[in-house]
Amino acid sequence: MIQELDVQKIRKDFPMLQNQNLIYLDSSATSQKPYSVIRAVTDFYENCNANPLRGLYETAQNATEKYEAAREKVRQFIHAKSTEEIIFTRNATESLNLVAYSYGLMAFQPGDEILVSIMEHHSDMLPWQQAAKRTGAVVKYLECDRQGRITEEDLRNAITDKTKLVAVTQVSNVLGVRNDIRAFAKICHEKGIVIVADGAQSVPHMPVDVQELDVDFLAFSGHKMLGPMGIGVLYGKREYLEKMPPFLTGGEMIESVSRDGAVFAQLPHKFEAGTVNAGGAAGLATAIDYIENIGFEQIQKREDALTALAMEKIREIPFVHIMGQENPEQHHGIITFTVDGVHPHDIAAILDADHIAVRAGHHCAQPLLRHLGVMASTRASLMFYNTEEEIVKFTESLKEIRRKMG
Ligand code: PLP
Repeated sequence: MIQELDVQKIRKDFPMLQNQNLIYLDSSATSQKPYSVIRAVTDFYENCNANPLRGLYETAQNATEKYEAAREKVRQFIHAKSTEEIIFTRNATESLNLVAYSYGLMAFQPGDEILVSIMEHHSDMLPWQQAAKRTGAVVKYLECDRQGRITEEDLRNAITDKTKLVAVTQVSNVLGVRNDIRAFAKICHEKGIVIVADGAQSVPHMPVDVQELDVDFLAFSGHKMLGPMGIGVLYGKREYLEKMPPFLTGGEMIESVSRDGAVFAQLPHKFEAGTVNAGGAAGLATAIDYIENIGFEQIQKREDALTALAMEKIREIPFVHIMGQENPEQHHGIITFTVDGVHPHDIAAILDADHIAVRAGHHCAQPLLRHLGVMASTRASLMFYNTEEEIVKFTESLKEIRRKMG
C-alpha cells in the first residue's frame, strides 16, 4: 500500500526535495538525484580520477574497474547475457542514433520499410528518418488509437514483406501507456524483423528483462532513473553488435591503427570512442543500487497509487481532460492533459507561480500530438518520491487556473 514506503525518509535522500518551494512533477524529463548518486560521481573525481581504459598505473586501473563494474551492474539490472552487450552512451538519444546509423546504414536497402510507432519521442523517430534518407528505405508509421493503444493485430497489419525493423517505445512519454514489447518482439521475429525498444520511460519504473522481452536493442538514459546526466545505455544482442560497424571512431575503440585503416576493438569498446564518462557510469551504478534497495514492487505500488490519486482529483475538474487511458496503471506516473480555453504555456506559468514544476508543449512528440488532434498539452509526471500532499496542491492549483486567467 501507499503507506508502506516511508516517503518522508526517502525524500531526505534527495537534496532538491529539501526545497519546500518546489513541487517537482517533471520526473519524466529528468528525475531528481539522491545524495548517494551525487557522492558516487564526486567520489570518482576525488579518488579515482584518471583516464579509464588507457593508463596502466594503479589509479587508472581503479578508474577502469569502476567503469566496468558499472557495466556489470547495468547488465544485471536488465538481465543481459553479457557485458559485451552493454554499450555506454550519453543518453537514450545517442543510443538510438547509434543503432540507426550503425545497424540501419548497414542493413537497409532502397525500398525497405522501417516501421516506427507514431507515439515515439523524436529521439526514436528522427534517427530512422535520417537512416531512411541515406539508404533509400522508407519510414512507415504504426498508428495508435485515441487511448494510445497499439494491438498485436495493429502491428501484424502494418508489417509488410518489406519491413526490416520496428522501433517502438515501451512506455510513451506523453500518454504513459505501455506497449507489450514481448508480444511485439515475437511477431517481429516470426518474420525476421529486428525490434528496437525505447526504454527511456520504462526502465526507471518497472523491471525490464531484455532476455525475457527478447528485444534486439533497448535504449535508456541514466538521468531519468536517479542517475547523472550524460550517461546512457544501449543494450544490443551480441549477434547484431558484432556485425555492426562502429558509430563513432577515434581513441579507445581500436586494437591497432595503420596508415591504411584500423582493426577495431572487441565489444563493447568498439562502440565507445573517446574518453568515456566513468564518473557518470559510477553514478548510474549507484542509482541502480538505490532503485534496487527500494524495489520495483514498492516503486510501482506507490507510483500507481499517486497516479490514481492525481487522476481522481483531476477528473473532478470539468474543464481538464486527461489524455490516454482510463486506468491509472496504464499511465506509469505520466498524466498529460488539456484545459479548455487555456494554453499549456499559461498553465505551466500559473502552476510555476505556486512552485509546481510541470512540462508544457509538444513533449518532443509532435507527430503523436498531431495524430491525436492536439497542438500542445501539459504533462505532470511523478515518481515514488512525490507525496499525496503535493498531488493535492497541484490539483487544487489546477482548479484555479481558469479563474486566474481571468
Ligand atoms: N525516449 C523517450 C520516450 C523519452 O521520454 C526521452 C526523453 O524525454 C528520450 C527518448 C530521450 O532521452 P534523452 O534526452 O535522455 O536522450
